[in-house]
Formats: sequence, C-alpha cells, structure tokens
Amino acid sequence: MFVDQANIYIKAGDGGDGCVSFHREKYIASGGPDGGDGGKGGDIVFKVDDNISNLIDFRYKRKYIAEKGQNGSSKNCTGRNAPDLIINVPRGTVVRESESGRILADLSCDEPVVICKGGKGGRGNAHFATPTRQIPRFAKPGFRGDEYNVTLELKLIADVGLVGFPNVGKSTLISVVSAAKPKIANYHFTTLTPVLGVVKIEDGKSFVMADIPGLIEGASEGVGLGHEFLRHVERCRLIVHVVDVSGIEGRNPVEDFEAINKELANFSEELAEAPQIVAANKSDMATPEQIAEFREYIEDKGYPFFEISAATTNGTQALVYGIWDKLKDLPPVKEFEAQPLTQQELDEKLISNRAFNVTVEDGIYFVEADWLWDILRSVNMDDYSSLQYFQRVLRSSGIIDKLEEMGINEGDTVSIFDFEFDYIR
Ligand code: GDP
Ligand code: MG
Repeated sequence: MFVDQANIYIKAGDGGDGCVSFHREKYIASGGPDGGDGGKGGDIVFKVDDNISNLIDFRYKRKYIAEKGQNGSSKNCTGRNAPDLIINVPRGTVVRESESGRILADLSCDEPVVICKGGKGGRGNAHFATPTRQIPRFAKPGFRGDEYNVTLELKLIADVGLVGFPNVGKSTLISVVSAAKPKIANYHFTTLTPVLGVVKIEDGKSFVMADIPGLIEGASEGVGLGHEFLRHVERCRLIVHVVDVSGIEGRNPVEDFEAINKELANFSEELAEAPQIVAANKSDMATPEQIAEFREYIEDKGYPFFEISAATTNGTQALVYGIWDKLKDLPPVKEFEAQPLTQQELDEKLISNRAFNVTVEDGIYFVEADWLWDILRSVNMDDYSSLQYFQRVLRSSGIIDKLEEMGINEGDTVSIFDFEFDYIR
C-alpha cells in the first residue's frame, strides 16, 4: 500500500530533575549543598532516508516520545543528556502542526531538522546556596519538552508531473522515456501509486518525471481517485498534460483537456498557473485531421504542443527535448518554507502558558514558573529599564497579585530561580 499522509504525536524528552544533596565525607562536618542539575531531554529530529518511499510505517506507530534527561545526583553530578529521537521519513515529507496547518518543516533536504526541543534540566540545590541560605533543601524539576500533533504529507520531488485522464497513456510514456516500469493495461486506474522515473537526455543531463494516477472529473472534490494524488504535482516545475488525441474511448480531446485543467484549478490556483505542455498521445490511432484540429486549439491557447505515440515511441524523443528546453528556464523544484509563529502568536502562547506557583518557606517567597527562566536570564538587574520590564512581567502575569494575596510584606525576600530580591511595593 502506498501511504502518503499520516498523523502522529511527537514529544521531546523532559529535562531531568535537579538533585537535593549535601556534601558528606568521613571526618568532615556536614558540608554544603552539592545536588547536581538534571540533564537535557532528547530532541525530536526529522531526517530524510532515501530508502523509505512512503509513510506506511507511521500508520502502525503513531507516538514518538524522546527520553527524559537523567536526574542530577550528589557530588554536583549533572545528569546525562538524553539522546535525540531521530524519525526517518521519505524525501519530500512536509510536516505540519495538525491543528493550525502551519508548516513546521519540509524534509526535502539532507540536513536533519529539529522539530521539538528537549526540556532543559532542572537545577540542583547547589545553585541555590546564598550567604543567608546555606542549606537549600530544594531543587527544581526539569523543564517539559515540546510536543505536537503533526500531519506528515509526502509531496514527491519531481521536475515534471504527468497528468491526464486514466488510460491516456501516461504510464506507457514514462516507461519508454525512463527506466521506470509502472503497470500498464488497457483499463482505468491501473496506476494506483505515483511512480518516479529518471529521464536521461545525455551524460549529465537528466530530469525526474512523475507518473501520477489518473484524474477524473470531480477529483478535486475528492470524488474517486486522483484528488489525493494532486499533492504530488504541487512541487513539479512543469506539468505535462497527456491527452488521448484519437478519442478512441469515445471521448473528445478538447473536453478532456479542459476538464483536467478545471480539476487542477479547483485544487489550487498555483497548479492552474503552473507551466504546462501538452502531449497528444495515441497519434498512431488518430487521423491527421483530428491531430491538426487539436493542435490548433492548444496552440491558440499558447501551450507548446507535441504529437506523440507512446506505444510506438514516435515523437517521444522530441517531447523529452521539449521538456528539457522548457525546464532550463524554470525555477528549481519548490520547497515549502517553515511558517514560524508571528510575534503576536508567540506572545499569546506565552501568556496562555504563564502558569506559576508560589510557596513560602522560612519566610521566603519562592516563585516557580518555567517560562520566566528565559526572561530572567535576559534581564540586566543593574539596568533600570530592564528591571522595569521585569517588574511589568511580574505584574501582568499576576505574580505580584498572588504574592500580596499571600500576605507578603515590604522587605520580604522573593526568590525566582537563583535570583533573589526584596519585595518593595
Ligand atoms: P494511463 O492510465 O494513462 O497510465 O495509461 P496506460 O499507459 O496504462 O495506457 C492505457 C492503454 O493505452 C494501454 O493499453 C496502452 O497500451 C495504450 N496506449 C498507450 N499509449 C498508446 C499509444 O500511443 N497508442 C496506442 N494505440 N495505444 C497506447
Ligand atoms: Mg497509468
């Protein structure tokens, strides 16, 4: 079975937890805190594997969770970072966030792509020692790894896509111009999976052709076969529209031609506007008048026209050169760009995730909030405007309100990660 779409859940590893521990040694009085930090959780990394041709594996395994970082331990030992989880996919796989449809990556290149980042390790109690707090009995848990529900969609990488009604001779054509050997038979829908073939012109000159299963009317609305295969034409630089000019099946080439183009347009505007050339096939069965009439129609519309007979290979070489000629002026195979969140979306996400927890120990107010870590690190406490920004964050996120609700007094200590300050109204 050829599977070109799958939904999976991916989650990077959580960070390991920080450790609470105190130095102990024979003949040495109890020493200071020496709890180490947790290790980083494993990333989820996508990578192209050219030995994989479709997404069927993802129909059987749908959850991919990277390992958690190792917890910290005593003697200031940092936990081991967890290994990345590599997910191998066929070349041309587009990864989208399922809910929004946002593109996270297009795996058509060789470089691996990190889709989910592993959580940072939590800090051990050794970090929390201060002159006034020499026995910190707490450490921090690791940060959560990123997680997503993603949709994988295979969009084959080919220079040229063959489109046309079933039985017009697409598979025959690719089999005579390339080494590809798709099934050929005189009935509709013999081709159930896209087939790629390399067409060699001469040394060093070649292009990739894709035989796309036949389209029928209504394909873009999901009727019958074909619609789901149109996504494989999306990247193609050039569409070769194969039409049965002989009308041997009782059809009219002009009507066929228009019907297929309508399907392409219904699928996407981009497909409708993609460069196209027309191959009038089965010319061996057609009368010169039939061919001339169709040629006139096509050339009037401005498309390059090639009269061929895939069965006898008559004219196929000229078509191949025609394709090559056209490709020279066209941009390379399309790659889909990742769509990062906008600043507004990032802010919203941050705000919606601004959970925090406040606890009081020994009169010190401990604020715990994973998301504050990055902000805190970027704040320069000696700089007035930077400090003001930090206070605004504390206020807008509701942390100040919470502290007051818990009865904090002027001059009490607030501790956030390893940063401490006196509370001032
Ligand atoms: P596809 O469905 O578009 O892939 O069409 P196929 O390549 O499977 O061909 C359908 C039928 O048309 C087969 O019986 C082929 O042998 C026949 N056919 C293909 N090309 C030609 C041609 O140029 N001339 C004639 N007479 N028959 C052809
Ligand atoms: Mg076929």
